[in-house]
Amino acid sequence: MKFLLPTACIGCGKFQGYRICEKCINLLKSHQKNRCSQCALICNEAHGICTNCEIQIPPFDQTICIDCYGGLLTNAVHDYKYKHRVAIARGLVDAWLQIHKVNDLTSNIDLLIPVPMSSQKLNKRGFNQSWELCKSFSKKLKIATSSSILYRNHLESNQAQAGREERIKRLKAVFHINQNKINSIKNTRIVLIDDVMTTGATLSTIAKLLKDFGAQSVHNWVILRTPYK
Ligand SMILES: [Zn+2]
Ligand SMILES: [Zn+2]
Repeated sequence: MKFLLPTACIGCGKFQGYRICEKCINLLKSHQKNRCSQCALICNEAHGICTNCEIQIPPFDQTICIDCYGGLLTNAVHDYKYKHRVAIARGLVDAWLQIHKVNDLTSNIDLLIPVPMSSQKLNKRGFNQSWELCKSFSKKLKIATSSSILYRNHLESNQAQAGREERIKRLKAVFHINQNKINSIKNTRIVLIDDVMTTGATLSTIAKLLKDFGAQSVHNWVILRTPYK
């Protein structure tokens, strides 16, 4: 069908045959930076780790993104989440898979897990943006995925206004593992999927929880990384 119907590129909006056009893919490729292999912050050396991760090693093993928050795909991610344009997920995953060498990445992965959304938020938004991305990755890479392993309780007060320590404390009480699914985590190489990584506090909390339940490794695949210090 994509050869018959023109599609708006999620990067530039131009109508053409693909979800993201070649020009935008080339732009994204040219914007690739050296990033911390652990948390994906922009970093001076290739394959190095940033000073934050040197001081405090995060519980996850690796983070991969395709651009900074504020870059070419920011509007696409925004429209996807807040304007209910669910089809954008496939374009974001297409872009991600064209930027990264997938065969090198998939050999050490068993399971893709989305960052969960509380049922209250799910009812309000109508979909979990991480789960839609996860399903698209799973379909393309033929790697198992599940949205019933991890649960998230609703957090009443505004996380953004809480201090870092307070946020981490609250987050620990938010995520839970489905007790019937513990065996599917043990000795498993997991990838957590999310749209945007900001401070990394959410992904850290989940990675620690998964490792406490026996996950062998936890990698993060995100679309955008906030250049947060
Ligand atoms: Zn484009
Ligand atoms: Zn780092």
